[in-house]
Amino acid sequence: MSEGAPAAERRWPEVVPSLLERCSFPPPGHPLTCAVSGGPDSLALLALAVAAGCRVTAIHVDHGLRPGSAAEAEVVAAAARRFGARFERRQVAVAPGPNLEARARAARRSVLPADVATGHTMDDQAETVLCNLLRGAGLDGLGAMAPGPRHPLLELRRHETEALCAALGLEPVRDPSNLDPRHLRNRVRHELLPLCSELARRDVVPVLARQAGLLREEAQVLDQLARAEVPDPSDARALAAAPLALARRAVRRWLVPDQAPERHPPSSAAVARVLEVAAGRRVATEIEGGRQVRRSRGHLAVAEPSDKVRPVRTERVASSVPSWAQHEVGEPVVTAEALAERVIELGAAITADYAQAPPLLVGVLKGAMIFMGDLIRAIDLPVDVDFMAVSSYGSATRTSGVVRIVKDLDADLAGRHVLVVEDIIDSGLTLNYLRRYLQARGPESLEVCALLVKEGEQRVPLDLRYVGFRIPSAFVVGYGLDVDERYRNLASVHRYRPSLAEP
Ligand code: 5GP
Repeated sequence: MSEGAPAAERRWPEVVPSLLERCSFPPPGHPLTCAVSGGPDSLALLALAVAAGCRVTAIHVDHGLRPGSAAEAEVVAAAARRFGARFERRQVAVAPGPNLEARARAARRSVLPADVATGHTMDDQAETVLCNLLRGAGLDGLGAMAPGPRHPLLELRRHETEALCAALGLEPVRDPSNLDPRHLRNRVRHELLPLCSELARRDVVPVLARQAGLLREEAQVLDQLARAEVPDPSDARALAAAPLALARRAVRRWLVPDQAPERHPPSSAAVARVLEVAAGRRVATEIEGGRQVRRSRGHLAVAEPSDKVRPVRTERVASSVPSWAQHEVGEPVVTAEALAERVIELGAAITADYAQAPPLLVGVLKGAMIFMGDLIRAIDLPVDVDFMAVSSYGSATRTSGVVRIVKDLDADLAGRHVLVVEDIIDSGLTLNYLRRYLQARGPESLEVCALLVKEGEQRVPLDLRYVGFRIPSAFVVGYGLDVDERYRNLASVHRYRPSLAEP
């Protein structure tokens, strides 16, 4: 949807030229797409971009999260008409639930051009520095946003964008979620920054913004040094020989190349593991997104994610089946090593997704007990844990979908972010039943983390937030899974082969 516009604003408030001197817009006549929510900063961005002579398109993204979001689009449309900018409206769907802020940002980014300009001010910059510091960011995160056409207002203060809107007679949209203390950024804005200024006895916003600028410059120098020291980051020997700080940067650059900035940067733990592979202390390691880094003939290579695990050849792993199990237990379907690496990955993903609101993990006994034990140790958040036990009616190796609750939960689910931890999904009927049962207890959100999903067996649609492995359809035991209470203590997940006992 796009609208043309009548004549542009001719008379600007007196303050505009001095504000423009501190902005970093592209040259007059240049096209510029601005993300405009309708708040004071983005309305000021729209007005100043037009005043700077750019050919402006204002895009409003409607997340559909609040009643009245259509009226907000109209505020932006009206401002665009008045200033002679083009207007476009984009709709995205964001489901309520954990980590809403980050998911809304991701949905917004997916419909905005990569070079879109935003109305972030120096106050936002200072908040970003502190938020990133609290999240454990390194040099790049602490360098925050770079000034330039994508962030033209970084040298302006928030009170200046507010004052400009008032001078222009604009009535910005007030987003109530900006006051919600569940969002880290809001607490940084309303509590931490004022406290820092009070302790420092001065306004710390320009101080933090200046430090971010210095750190960005230093990061650039380190990048240049890293490029000179390790021109090819897949060269294991060069990586292993380089000073650690430069080797780390080379690995990051390799895993998140400039042409794929949407890729999640690897965690510092993943970078450290890749360096262990480079040094020959590990053969391979998993990194973010399920990708794997391997070393072969002095070179590192990244393998794209594959959550399908092909059975491992029996003779290569026969020694991993204990002798007392060998008459009924076949080859591993998922090895203990693969389980350990994947659980760490799942824990990292859960840690990131629930950072703002730690979940209550509900384990389904007994099968999920070992997975649950490993998973909670891979989650770096103050999680709560509860268990329920269910028994499904059916044959020894097939569920009927009729489920009896053998042990109910102790915890109250109302208002909690609940994450069900399941061992294995076959038909999906057990999970389907559990989901309806738990949903009726009013959790704020309900998601599922399943270690194993059998391919092609599901008879109901599954909405699984996290999956460990998709495995071929066969009855399996080990890592918590049993047959008649046996084999739960095998370290790997194995195919169950009663026929092995036959002569
Ligand atoms: P569904 O309802 O999805 O068909 O079955 C789920 C439940 O059946 C699981 O929680 C688990 O208790 C059991 N189950 C399904 N497949 C297997 C399997 O391959 N091995 C074991 N030990 N249990 C399974």
